[in-house]
Amino acid sequence: MNIIFLGPPGAGKGTQAQKICAALNIPQISTGDMLRRAIAEKTPTGLKAKSYMDAGGLVPDDVIIDIVRDRLQADDCAQGYILDGFPRTVPQAEALEGIAQIDKVVEIAVPDEKLVARISGRRVCLKCGATYHVSMLDGKTTCDACGETLIQRDDDKPETVQNRLVAYHAKTAPLVDFYRARGKLATIDGDGGMEKVFADILEALKA
Ligand code: ADP
Ligand code: ADP
Ligand code: ZN
Repeated sequence: MNIIFLGPPGAGKGTQAQKICAALNIPQISTGDMLRRAIAEKTPTGLKAKSYMDAGGLVPDDVIIDIVRDRLQADDCAQGYILDGFPRTVPQAEALEGIAQIDKVVEIAVPDEKLVARISGRRVCLKCGATYHVSMLDGKTTCDACGETLIQRDDDKPETVQNRLVAYHAKTAPLVDFYRARGKLATIDGDGGMEKVFADILEALKA
């Protein structure tokens, strides 16, 4: 099954994509993780993307569409995948229609006022993409999955978070209607415990 996870920054897309991908044995394709790795490796794509990400804006459509088109050609995508963080604009969604056949779009809905607390406490592993919240780390500073030191993303600082929420509402939220019109949308209440959200998503994917 080819799946999209849609939702504002901090909604739990990455957290749930990791769990669902493990359960279904399909790859998680996180454009944010791919861009962060490109920046760390100082590739041409990373150099192009960095200033947009630092400001909390979106990377230009042509840059991100090229990355996704390449990634979806890899062998591991043949049995399905979860797109986590793509598409984020209507032009990206239109381009994707020429690249792949999407089966289901899962919108994870969380009110803005909850997102700020989630994002400001987020800690991530750049090596394996695992995501944590300080409230569950108990002072620990390394990744359970791979041992790497966890970091706070620069764009998770309060001054940038507001810009990201504005970008979400202006450019990404219209995709909810875009996919509803195509009969592909399932909206999940993301404002509950992680296990409940996980079970609700699995349920929606079966339907
Ligand atoms: P996204 O990929 O949508 O930006 P993440 O999966 O990175 O969101 O989650 C953002 C933060 O919220 C992380 O710190 C994560 O641990 C935490 N989080 C994820 N799901 C939940 C949940 N259901 N309840 C509370 N906190 C959550
Ligand atoms: P979050 O998990 O908080 O939703 P991501 O890790 O998905 O954030 O993305 C981080 C940043 O990477 C975004 O703020 C944006 O600058 C850039 N980015 C990721 N995916 C896309 C995309 N599909 N289109 C444009 N920019 C993107
Ligand atoms: Zn890790």
